[in-house]
Amino acid sequence: MNSDSHVWHRQIGLVDQRGLSSMDLSLDGDDDGILSILVMACQLGACRIGMGVARLNRSPSDPLNARLTSGLLDGLPETWSEAVEHFHQRGMEIGFSSPQGPVDLWAGNPQAIRADQSAVLWMVHGNGRAVLGSGDMRSMPPNEPPKTMVDAPTLVCGTSALLHRHLMERGLFWDTPISDRWLTLTARLDDIDPQEALELISSKFGGGTATSTVAGDGSLIRFRLPLEETPEDLLEVLEQDRKGASKTLEGPIDVGPFPALSEDGSTSFDGQNLPPSVGAGDFLVLGAGGTGSWAAPLILSGCDGLVTMTIVDGDQKVESHNLNRQILYETRNLGSPKALAAREALAHRFPALAGGISAIPRPLGPQHVFSNETGSEGEEVSLAEIIGEDDGYDEQIVSSLDSMGVALACLDNQSARTTLNRACLDRGRVMVNGGGEGVSGIVEAFDGESCMVCRYGEQEAKSVERISCQEEGARPVISIVTTTAYVGAMMAAMALCVVARARNPLTDMPEARDWASGSIQKRHTGRLPWFEGECASHL
Ligand SMILES: [Zn+2]
Repeated sequence: MNSDSHVWHRQIGLVDQRGLSSMDLSLDGDDDGILSILVMACQLGACRIGMGVARLNRSPSDPLNARLTSGLLDGLPETWSEAVEHFHQRGMEIGFSSPQGPVDLWAGNPQAIRADQSAVLWMVHGNGRAVLGSGDMRSMPPNEPPKTMVDAPTLVCGTSALLHRHLMERGLFWDTPISDRWLTLTARLDDIDPQEALELISSKFGGGTATSTVAGDGSLIRFRLPLEETPEDLLEVLEQDRKGASKTLEGPIDVGPFPALSEDGSTSFDGQNLPPSVGAGDFLVLGAGGTGSWAAPLILSGCDGLVTMTIVDGDQKVESHNLNRQILYETRNLGSPKALAAREALAHRFPALAGGISAIPRPLGPQHVFSNETGSEGEEVSLAEIIGEDDGYDEQIVSSLDSMGVALACLDNQSARTTLNRACLDRGRVMVNGGGEGVSGIVEAFDGESCMVCRYGEQEAKSVERISCQEEGARPVISIVTTTAYVGAMMAAMALCVVARARNPLTDMPEARDWASGSIQKRHTGRLPWFEGECASHL
């Protein structure tokens, strides 16, 4: 069985995959805008060869001038025919044609807007702001915004919202999300009770679960088959209704790190205190999955100086069902440790910064933060005890915590976020926290005013439940690229601003955000109301 066939496993409970595959999509905008839509549409499995097509308002021989998308694919194409070849190799159908009337999606800088242009949905971005609207684009200010370090994250925030909104307006989301599905083989054993059945029968994938038949005359023993052994078609036999198509947007909305819209309805891309590049900085990225794999390249897109980035991830295997949203991995990385594959991709995409990028294929644990004192589980743990098999990685994790300028929590469980939060509090560093699941996501920063414990409560902050895309053990989650890319991009914008502020306190800082079904709200980030006075966890 071809393991590639499960690329969309994590999203088939959320969206109509056949509807996505057969989608026809017309695109326009500037080159970065079109390319960023294509990258995400390809991850979604949209416009597949023989089923649907994405039509670009370009000619094959047109040069491709991209500045912001270098972190999103291995080697930027030089012409549009090269770009088409790149996506064609990944199963996507792309054609060229001049639009008759409005295109489906338009994305780009205000300078790229032509007077006669309109789109069913458009996204205009610049200077840390991104605006999503429909129809006529002439209300957007035409002046060219200054180049800033957050241009690439802003583009991705905007494209995520644009594409998500498009899927909603096409009615492609299921009415009832299904968090996971799998195939089970059931065997009936007559005259044998369940306990005995479990002792007698097993499969090559391990033991089963057994129950009594209704009549009590035997047992039914069930074996779950691994995803790789399950034909994809069999996972698609479930039927259900799609959500009704959302109405087209009435007025423009803000979808970028900073607002462009005023209460009086006017739009401005002016007046932000954001440098063109972050200069020197030390970024620690904990977790290289859905959100971390977007945050890391988008941070590097805003760097041109002496930058250090350390990727820490204990996940030992890139799996095919990661490829629907984790931007740093390709089929060739399947089976490789995530941190190492991430480093390889980043070094390839940002050769000038490669020397500063390192990877540690181990998870962050309490032993790295609470060494020689009482750990979070109340046990004495020391680094020396943990380093039974000393591979040097534990010491590398501790030294990267000591040197970090900002930490990004792109982790799969609350307990690890709380551990990282403690390490940040001890060192007076900001932790940018983000997470996404299905069509919901959060992005926030912890700067010492509050911590994971006084914001979420002791029990939640120390929960060890792992949110994971593994089938077994951990709770599986549904995941789609529009959510993870938005969260990762907002985290990158925040982390860049944190580092720039360390040198220039006047640098602006994006506010915390909630992402819910493609709409973006300011997130309340106070303490829980019953935390009065001092919080013992972060003093
Ligand atoms: Zn606290």
